[in-house]
Order: sequence, then structure tokens, then C-alpha cells
Amino acid sequence: MANYNPYDNVLTVMNEAAEILGYSDNDIASLKHPERELKVSFPVVMDDGTTKVFEGFRVQHSTVRGPAKGGVRFHYAVNHDEVKALAAWMTFKCAVVDIPYGGGKGGVICNPSKLSERELHEITKQFTIAIAPLIGPEKDIPAPDVGSTPAMMGWMMDTYSMLQGHTVRGVVTGKPVEIGGSLGRTEATGRGVMFSTNNVLDKLGIDRKGTTVAIQGMGNVGSISASLLYQEGMKVVAVSNSSGGVYNKDGLNIPAIIDYLSDRKNLLSEYNEEGLVHISNEELLELDVKVLIPAALENQINESNADRIKASVIIEAANGPTTAEADEILASKGVVLVPDILANAGGVVVSYFEWVQNLQCISWTEEDVNTKLKNIMDPAFDAVWDISKENNVSLRTGAYLIAIKRVVEAKKLRGL
Ligand code: GLU
Repeated sequence: MANYNPYDNVLTVMNEAAEILGYSDNDIASLKHPERELKVSFPVVMDDGTTKVFEGFRVQHSTVRGPAKGGVRFHYAVNHDEVKALAAWMTFKCAVVDIPYGGGKGGVICNPSKLSERELHEITKQFTIAIAPLIGPEKDIPAPDVGSTPAMMGWMMDTYSMLQGHTVRGVVTGKPVEIGGSLGRTEATGRGVMFSTNNVLDKLGIDRKGTTVAIQGMGNVGSISASLLYQEGMKVVAVSNSSGGVYNKDGLNIPAIIDYLSDRKNLLSEYNEEGLVHISNEELLELDVKVLIPAALENQINESNADRIKASVIIEAANGPTTAEADEILASKGVVLVPDILANAGGVVVSYFEWVQNLQCISWTEEDVNTKLKNIMDPAFDAVWDISKENNVSLRTGAYLIAIKRVVEAKKLRGL
């Protein structure tokens, strides 16, 4: 695959939306550059007694609408441009659902699947110490992302708290519930994907019962999305993860697959059920399904495969799964795409709820959290849908019209 720089995608769509909004280059100049970036390296003693130096990043793209907010990615291929793009997407994601945050993101170059729990704990602790001057409940609030877990968020919260000399729950979201995490946070991104899917199918007049869907990625977001859409009566015919994919034209047994994958030693490429065939990740993207949900990494749908995509609806559960070139190809084919900054915003919305609960020392019921999430996601979807129709642009551009306007107007009102 060509070497795409995801930050170029951010700039392309930002420029397009700013032009429609009538903003000058001056209005959006600062948005093209992250406000603050930190690159860190730190030593960790590994289980075999050797000392290894790890590298990481924390990028604060914008704090115009509130503290920087966004996850920390633990992945062997994470890099500076990727974290920059992910941080910018957080700014626009928080703006499109109108929660009082800017955008940030972190990354640690490591392969969590090859590390012991002790090594992972140590890496998380040392990374937190290294970025501690930047973070805080009023400054920048990390959360889980690809390769990071609630347990790791607990360790981050603990490390930051030790440095402060008292417990600071609101410094990190996505924590275990017992130490200040919110009920419903683990499922929140997938639940938001489900709301987005239902909303777009309703607008298009497509009955969700029996509608075929393929999902790339069976991490937290992909598996919860698969499970909720399965419960909604959709026919999930294909799922995949880094080990490969599985396809069943009659619909997969999603609860059985999730149960199978709950043992982390089990490989999806070795899973079997009647009528199932094994496929590659590339083949999954090109299946003849109604709905395609990329829920893995960036740049999966690009100029080399976009014209072979057969789905008529795409829900971007991952951040940045579609390149700007692919966007154009898909639009010319009439594909309706719900963009990442809207489709996967459920996670950060419930992170916001977690932070609000932490700051007030209260806890909401799961039902309350899920209802509040829906009450944010559904109107945000309608607003993006309406503005896209009014301007005759894609849902992605529509989402950016709303987001960029909110950020630029906040900047102007603050006199920045
Ligand atoms: N990593 C998630 C995202 O990309 C969640 C971020 C958060 O909760 O702050 O939206």
C-alpha cells in the first residue's frame, strides 16, 4: 500500500469545509498546526533483564473549546504524523457533538501483544510520568485507543495521582468502573456506531432487519458494534482482525465469535462454523454487502481499492479509514459514508460523561449514560445530515462544516 500521510487527509477536508464556510486562510491557519507537541523516550527494564528505550508522543491539536481530549495508542507502527492527525480528528469530533473539549492524542511505539502485563504496566507508568507536565483534568485528558485498555487507564490515573500526592480521577477516562470509570464507557464507541448505522439506514429508508454488514476489526469497537448490530437484527456476514477474516453468507454467529475471541490465544483465522469461509482483510472490504464498517486502522479504503467497494453505506468506526482520494471515488459511486468524527464519537462522549461524574464525585446508572449518549448522537447526526443536504456535500464535509465553524467561532469569541 502506498504511504499515505493521514495528516494530509485532515488538511484536505479542512480546506474544503473552510472554503464553503467563507473562512479566510487566516481564520483557519492556526488549526493547521497542533498547539503543543511532546516527544518522549523512557527506559523500561524488560522481563529478561535488558533495558529497552521506548518512544512516545502526546499532541494537543487544540484547546480552544476546552481541555485537549483523546486516547493513547499503543501500536508498533504508531508515528508522529499519525498522532497529529488523530489529535486533529479529536478536535473536530468533540466539536461536532458539541462537548467542551479540544483535541489531543498520544502514542507509544510498542507491540502490546508481545509484552507481559508487568512490562505493559511499566511502559504505561513511564509514559505517564514523561507526559505528566502536559496532562491534567483541566489541561489534557487521555483515554483508551487502539492497543490500550481500561486497566492501563487505571495505571495512568494512579501514576499521575502519585505525582500529585492525591487521587485525581478526572485526569484519564476509560478507567475501570471500580476506580471512577463510567458505566457504559467500554461499549460507548460501538453503541455510537450502532446509533449512527440506525440513523443513516432510517434516512435512506432501509430496513435494518436482515441488512448485510461486514466489519473490519474485532477490537473493542468492532466487536461491540458487531454485537449490537446483530442484536438489532442486522445480518453480520463478515468480520476480521489482524489474523484474517471470516465470511458466512447466511450471517455469522456473532455471540459465538466474541466468546471464542475472549480467549486472547484464539485466532479468528482458526475459527469455524457451518457455512463459513475464511477471507482476507482486503477481501472483506470488497464484499457485496449493504453496510461496510471499517473498525481498525487508517487508510484502509484508498485509491487502490475504492472502486472495488460494493457496499452502498460505510460507517467509519475507525479513525481515518478512508483517504481523501478514496472519498472522491466513493462519492462518484453514490456511496453514503458516515464519517469517523461523527460515527465513532460515542466513545469520547461517554468519556466526557465519565469526567463530569469524576469532577462531581457522583455516578450515573448505565441506563442514564446510554440515554444521554443517544440524546447527543441522534441530534448530531441529524444536524450533519441536514447541513450536508443544504450544501449538497458529503456527510464528511457536512460534519466538518459544523465542527470547523464551532472551533473558529470559539477562537474568535475568545479573542485569539
Ligand atoms: N480513542 C477514542 C477516540 O478516538 C476515545 C477518545 C476519548 O475517549 O477521549 O475517539
